[in-house]
Amino acid sequence: MTGDHGHDAPSTTVEQHQSAILAALTPLPPVSAELADAEGSVLAEDVTAAVSLPSFDNSSMDGYAVQAKDTIETPAALQVTAEIAAGDTGAYQLAPGTAIKIMTGARLPAGADAVVPVEWTDDGADRVEIHRSVQPGNAVRSVGEDAAEGETLLTAGVRMRPMQIAVAASAGRKTVQVRPRPRVVVLSTGNELTEPGTPLVAGQIWDSNSYMLAAAAREAGALAYRHSVVPDDPAGVLPALEEQLSRADLLITTGGVSMGGEHDVVKAALGELGTVAFTKVAMQPGMPQGFGTIGKRQVPIFTLPGNPVSAFVSFQLFVRPAIAALQGAGDLGLPAVRATLTRPVRSPAGRRSFLRGVLAGDQVAPLSGQGSHQIAALGRANALIIVPEPETGLPEGHPVDVLVLP
Ligand code: AMP
Ligand code: MG
Repeated sequence: MTGDHGHDAPSTTVEQHQSAILAALTPLPPVSAELADAEGSVLAEDVTAAVSLPSFDNSSMDGYAVQAKDTIETPAALQVTAEIAAGDTGAYQLAPGTAIKIMTGARLPAGADAVVPVEWTDDGADRVEIHRSVQPGNAVRSVGEDAAEGETLLTAGVRMRPMQIAVAASAGRKTVQVRPRPRVVVLSTGNELTEPGTPLVAGQIWDSNSYMLAAAAREAGALAYRHSVVPDDPAGVLPALEEQLSRADLLITTGGVSMGGEHDVVKAALGELGTVAFTKVAMQPGMPQGFGTIGKRQVPIFTLPGNPVSAFVSFQLFVRPAIAALQGAGDLGLPAVRATLTRPVRSPAGRRSFLRGVLAGDQVAPLSGQGSHQIAALGRANALIIVPEPETGLPEGHPVDVLVLP
């Protein structure tokens, strides 16, 4: 029951705990989403091009559609026989030795093989004088040069961000099969917690974790709701969680899981169910972790430690990948980069440290205030510095892996 100072470090590694979590999760069932509502969901099918992109040869500039050979000798004077605007669906035919005025995005007339940009002409209306010759294909976007009909444009597992939504719309899709944003409910426990905005009595603190975790869950792609603070009463915890089950795809609690105190209400309440495992993970902060499922629907539940920095780090390492996995997304964890320490750091033997730091280019500065309650330093951090398990310290100038915070 010790292990807090690295003398007998826990044997469960960060990766083992991550794998156990991912193995227990089933992606949410796909739903059909209107394109306008698809942002943040994850594609559950491949999207193919319904037509070639572009689907017709068209002009990439405002200018004159011509036959390139009619511009070999400059200046070339050509009669202008028509004007085609974008969206004009008429069938135009270019006669040799003539020009048709054409706008960006307008369909190239039959018989034309190039467009002369208006800047290379006198911008004539009935007759145009061309100052520069063009090669065939000049300023023409040809059929299929972006994508061929039937080509796979988006693959299942990609997150629908604005770029992917543009692609789906361009592929002619009104709806897409997606896994929706998981619904996450966050519930914090503790008799000491009061709502920010209310006066503090000595011995109380404002609840920061539930706001932090709901925001982190949203940032990770979920729809998140915050439950009001639950007091340290084992009889109250389970009913509060059960009440949320119908509206949650994932539950997060914070607090009440320390190493065996009688006020560890979350552990007491969930321990009885037997479906949540409490594990010591070889990391700092965030050693006491709990994960399992509750209710008939077997909703996954994370019981995160109460110290705010521990809760935050635990979220990023364990809950973030779980949210992605519920969506069937490929982008599971935080991005990692390599950087050089600007100051020495210390770390408990046998545990992987995730120190708060400021990453700038290829340098990372560890912040002072590395206690798991020191939220002020968390507010200055943009990165988590990883110190491997065997190390008890690393000198200035040492290379480290760094997780980049979103
Ligand atoms: P616990 O895990 O409940 O023993 O809490 C560990 C530490 O985290 C204690 O100092 C708590 O006051 C603090 N803590 C627990 N929950 C929260 C919360 N929601 N917001 C801020 N601090 C908290
Ligand atoms: Mg507590």
